[in-house]
Amino acid sequence: MSKYQPIIGLEIHVQLNTTTKLFCRCLNEYAPEDPNKNICPFCTGQPGALPLLNKEAVKKAIQFGVAVGAKIPERTRWDRKNYFYADLPSGYQISQYDNPIVEGGLVEFYIEDKETGSYKKSSVELTRAHLESDAAKLLHSRGKTYVDFNRSGAPLVEIVTEPVIRSSAQAMAFVNELQLLVRRLGISDGDMEKGQMRFDCNLSLQNESQQSSGDLPSYRTETKNINSVRSLGRAIEYEIIRQTKLLEKGETPVQETRGWKDDLNKSTSQRSKEDAMDYRYFPEPDLKILEISSSDIPELNNLPQLPSDQRNQYIEMGLNMQIVNTFVGQSQLGDLFDSTIELKSVRSESKNKELTIAIANLLTGPVLAASTKNEKDIEEFITNENLLDIAELFSHDKINNKAVVKIIDELISGKKDVKNIVSENNLEQVSDTGALGNIVDSVITNNPKVVEEYKSGKVQVIGFMIGQCMKESKGQGNPKIFKDLLTEKLA
Ligand code: ADP
Ligand code: MG
Ligand code: ZN
Repeated sequence: MSKYQPIIGLEIHVQLNTTTKLFCRCLNEYAPEDPNKNICPFCTGQPGALPLLNKEAVKKAIQFGVAVGAKIPERTRWDRKNYFYADLPSGYQISQYDNPIVEGGLVEFYIEDKETGSYKKSSVELTRAHLESDAAKLLHSRGKTYVDFNRSGAPLVEIVTEPVIRSSAQAMAFVNELQLLVRRLGISDGDMEKGQMRFDCNLSLQNESQQSSGDLPSYRTETKNINSVRSLGRAIEYEIIRQTKLLEKGETPVQETRGWKDDLNKSTSQRSKEDAMDYRYFPEPDLKILEISSSDIPELNNLPQLPSDQRNQYIEMGLNMQIVNTFVGQSQLGDLFDSTIELKSVRSESKNKELTIAIANLLTGPVLAASTKNEKDIEEFITNENLLDIAELFSHDKINNKAVVKIIDELISGKKDVKNIVSENNLEQVSDTGALGNIVDSVITNNPKVVEEYKSGKVQVIGFMIGQCMKESKGQGNPKIFKDLLTEKLA
């Protein structure tokens, strides 16, 4: 048990990618170069303008709820959250207070241990998620402040977690998973640079007796205005150190709101509990209670495959976590893998696990490298047929790694048929032990010093000798057979 144990709860604002804003028909468009382009009397807060609910936003919030296994209540209500600020001319934000559209839910993900390279399964329970409209954006320049209302009224889902996160690594892995999820669902672009995902971080430190009783500390701080995953990690580390210092001096950190200053890598106090905001929530009089009929929900169950399900499926296929995450995170690669696996089952090789792994290695290794190097989309030069052909030849020991690279080069230069490339370039691997044995014999005779080293126990020099054999066979020898023959002859 360490002396202090961090307790973290996150509030995440995700901007939905609906066509129009939450309560008016203005376009919901990111247009920083064109301020106040998409505005109307409602989203500029003019008296008498009435809200008109955007059903697309409701549907997207429900999709999120269904994806995390949350409860979608039959009725959900809108509330006014009152406060005064220059980015909010109406003086209130329409939000949801005690009847949110999404209740509970769970997000599952993996955390990488950077030291060992291993992965640990983790999850975070959600308290709720609700819909609300965004405020306008203030721009400060040369002593003046400007207001851009393009963002005013944009639809947000605010996702609130239980206080169950225990480290910056867990928090970062969790929000990365959320980003993947909302992108996969197609409900948000999740682009943090455009402010489409923003984090508030609540943190306190449990002392030893609270750790054993499970009680939460009596205070917590909320750090606002965190705009990237990296900053989230830094804000957490900063706050753990700051609170630890206070607790070690025998002080209790004050309950307060802090603002994260990205450029300074620190947070500063904004307001304490004494002057905490009283938002005077009350039911929004201009909107009806929203009834969600359960017959809407089965249709919404028709979701795309979720990242966590996709990940589990790949793990079951025997792929390693690094490759699994590449496929889940880069959907173009994942799709190519899936369609090649489909073709593999058409060729009735569905049970061949080695071939599955060969396809995965081929895609994430030499194919991805060639795509980057030649600045070409993978689909531009390689088809599912090609991928499967190459992987089959490789996993049946017909070609080696070097030949794989050569085949890919030929495909990039416009050739289409893998088997033709192999025969035209003489790429088929020689596995005939008689022919390879002769090469092994001559490498042994020509390298007496290395042979001596090997025999005195420095067995790793076998790599050098395999290399010599490969060279002598002009890259066509089967390195596995070379290794077997060398081991046998040097024993
Ligand atoms: P508020 O309504 O003031 O925003 P909530 O009780 O709804 O406060 O909690 C907001 C966030 O604070 C949630 O994410 C919750 O998990 C987190 N939280 C609550 N208590 C603690 C605590 N002691 N330490 C860290 N986070 C906490
Ligand atoms: Mg809050
Ligand atoms: Zn508007």
